[in-house]
Amino acid sequence: MDSSQSIGMGSRLTKTAQTATLICLVLAAHAVAAPKYDLLIRRGHLIDPRNKISGVRDVAVSGGKIVMVAAAIDAADASKTIDARGLFVTPGLVDIHTHVYAGTGEKGSYAGDNSVYPDVVAPRAGVTTVVDAGGSGWRNFEDFKQRIIDRSTTRVLAFLNIVGNGMRGGKFEQDLLDMAAQPTADMARKHPGVIVGIKTAHFSGPEWLPVERSVEAGTLAALPVMVDFGSRKPERPLSELVTSKLRPGDIYTHMYSGLRGEQDPSGAVNAALWQGRKRGVIFDVGHGATSFAWRIAVPAIKEGFLPDVISTDMHVASMSGGMKDMANVMSKFLALGLPLDEVVARSSWHAARAIRQESLGHLSVGANADIAVWKIEKGSFGYVDGPGTRLAGSERLVAEVTIRAGKVIYDLNGLGAEAAKTGN
Ligand SMILES: [Zn+2]
Repeated sequence: MDSSQSIGMGSRLTKTAQTATLICLVLAAHAVAAPKYDLLIRRGHLIDPRNKISGVRDVAVSGGKIVMVAAAIDAADASKTIDARGLFVTPGLVDIHTHVYAGTGEKGSYAGDNSVYPDVVAPRAGVTTVVDAGGSGWRNFEDFKQRIIDRSTTRVLAFLNIVGNGMRGGKFEQDLLDMAAQPTADMARKHPGVIVGIKTAHFSGPEWLPVERSVEAGTLAALPVMVDFGSRKPERPLSELVTSKLRPGDIYTHMYSGLRGEQDPSGAVNAALWQGRKRGVIFDVGHGATSFAWRIAVPAIKEGFLPDVISTDMHVASMSGGMKDMANVMSKFLALGLPLDEVVARSSWHAARAIRQESLGHLSVGANADIAVWKIEKGSFGYVDGPGTRLAGSERLVAEVTIRAGKVIYDLNGLGAEAAKTGN
């Protein structure tokens, strides 16, 4: 080996070493700079009614918050990417009428066996926030809170029942002596942002007292009232409720039930409901087991009496009946001819506004990363109402992925999952 060869070899070695060092530096730089985003949802059709967006966007999430919404975001900046091409991306839904005070063991009670655990039903239907509609009153709210609210992944809020004992069945719910405004308002004030309203429900007497005490408590605590108007009584007509007893911002639920005069004998919407809407009363679906009828909803929608808010009235009986879940109830409104954007608005942003929780129900930068990804299946579907009649539909909303505070909590087809190692 002569000297020239040795020099040549040395120069080759030096070059190789230099390249290796460069590669190491590049790799090190990459390892040090963590991806900017925890999660990136790419190429989905974003529907964000609050921000008036309906089009293809990328959404980036970091630290449980939405950090960027743009036409294109670099996938290299994200540690996990969901390809949402052909899918819809919406705010995580806000279901303002549910019954989730489960687990007490009380028979025949919405503070017990009639209720469902929120984490069992919400994620698989794109729902990230549920509001318990009066399962508890001021006497048992804190039991509900420690049992369900504090332990659930789903965000759980509450309408506090004007009945101190809550929705524990007939003998409690008909007890006029347990409907006190002051302790109800005091409990609501103790839990701001969790107790978001007052509920009255299931009352079968002729008195106005349950409604009046609810409004009194709502005024004391600066919260809206939600009314399930109970049995139809001539002494307390629906017209008086929505045109004078309720305040603007109060919520009439079960709007398409037909059980309390929502439809007049001619088949038109009771004119008082239109007047109530003009005054600012909010009308909510609250589908439930028996509180949604096609014979009421179809003509009402044709007349233009749309829901302000779409909600389920989720409980053990309704979820196995015609209601099923939020996605199914929304699909019913697609079958009624509402555009998807309108259906989403009424299930997210408008719902959040009805409970005055304006941090929810949208995908603004800085908002909670509560997100749902949807597929619309095309085919031949049937939608059943409370009385058991069927309406045909050609579309069905299916929740693909649900994200709560930036974490994937439901993923039907593993869009956010890594491929399995099958050995091939
Ligand atoms: Zn209910």
